[in-house]
Amino acid sequence: MSLAKKIDAAPLLPENFSRWFSSRGWTPRAHQLELLSRARDGRSVLLIAPTGGGKTLAGFLPTLVELTERAARPQQLVSTGKEVHRSGGLHTLYISPLKALAVYIARNLETPVREMNLPVRIETRTGDTPASKRQRQRRDPPDILLTTPEQLALLLASADAPFLFGSLRRVILDELHSLVTSKRGDLLSLGLARLFALAPDLTSVGLSATVAEPDDLRRFLVPQPLTGTAMADLVIAEGGAEPDVTMLDTEEMLPWAGHSARHALGEIYDFIRRHKTSLIWSAKAENKCKLFAWVLIQNKLLTADNLARRSWPHQPSCSLCNGPMESGLHMCLSCPFAQEVWIQVLAWENLTLPQQIDPTSFSSIEEWWGETEALFPKDCRRMYNGAVIYTLWNIWKERNRRIFEHSSLTPLQVAGRVRESLCLYRSAFR
Ligand SMILES: [Zn+2]
Repeated sequence: MSLAKKIDAAPLLPENFSRWFSSRGWTPRAHQLELLSRARDGRSVLLIAPTGGGKTLAGFLPTLVELTERAARPQQLVSTGKEVHRSGGLHTLYISPLKALAVYIARNLETPVREMNLPVRIETRTGDTPASKRQRQRRDPPDILLTTPEQLALLLASADAPFLFGSLRRVILDELHSLVTSKRGDLLSLGLARLFALAPDLTSVGLSATVAEPDDLRRFLVPQPLTGTAMADLVIAEGGAEPDVTMLDTEEMLPWAGHSARHALGEIYDFIRRHKTSLIWSAKAENKCKLFAWVLIQNKLLTADNLARRSWPHQPSCSLCNGPMESGLHMCLSCPFAQEVWIQVLAWENLTLPQQIDPTSFSSIEEWWGETEALFPKDCRRMYNGAVIYTLWNIWKERNRRIFEHSSLTPLQVAGRVRESLCLYRSAFR
């Protein structure tokens, strides 16, 4: 067993890679350098790293470096027997248990390639890849191909397999622990054996989160001799990113009693505004819901449209009405489900709007909130705002219930939750 140890980045990482890391405010992790070093020695490796530990980048880093170095050398013509190509052929195969993961990883990998302007072509091949592109991939393969065990089996069965995989240098198996224990794992091990036969220079990299029996995976990654066992090297990454803990040094006067964060909310808002991603934890329901409403208005909530903008996995439609792509504005105002909740809550709270308001006519939640609030007499506004905050919060909770818990409530039941929260909220101030 070897814990990733401190390795000097300089001899392993080319200059442009080092610059790219620092341009993002990163330094290469020990296990990322360790994988580079093992790749230089032609070793196969099992990397065990926690989620968020830069595992995928560690797996691809040796490939990106090698492809950059290969492009810097004079171009060679590679004869295919049928046609002639100037490319060096397929270099790295990435295999994931999920086609969605393969597509997601490909998109993420495009970022360093684009930002460093690397001469690397990345493509995916899944059940959704059009037949014309599949054919082209066999004739003129990319440098890196991301696919699934089933697609690998199909590729290996084709007559072009020796040409396609003859140049292969590395195979990366992601989420290896979830693959090996199934029939898909058996299929994959057959595919892997064939790959090692077709590409004598091939090395493998297995990526995994915590594993109970790493030796099983290490054996899986390398061809087994007739007698004895062979094992891939083992690299264990230390915990994820180092936490940088600070306590808010507030400019506000601390209240003598009721130590909630209310006095510091302004500063907390400001803090969230300055950061790209914030995880908010609050034990106080009232603060939590207020913060949530603020984040929603700032359009900083991870609704499907915002996830899509970041190329993160997202559902394609609103999970409440199966309608259009989810956005904060749709989810809270124009969604037919949400409208039913609003009608019920406002009726129970006796907050009938003085005039008919079309929720779909507003371009932001803030505008809608401001205009509707102004329609109520001053003494009703506090009650109205409370109802808005808790309704928004409960609609969001329902949305999450559907996505993450695969269960659902009716609009009437969601409205009932809002009423419970509001009763609790009011009893606290009585
Ligand atoms: Zn909807």
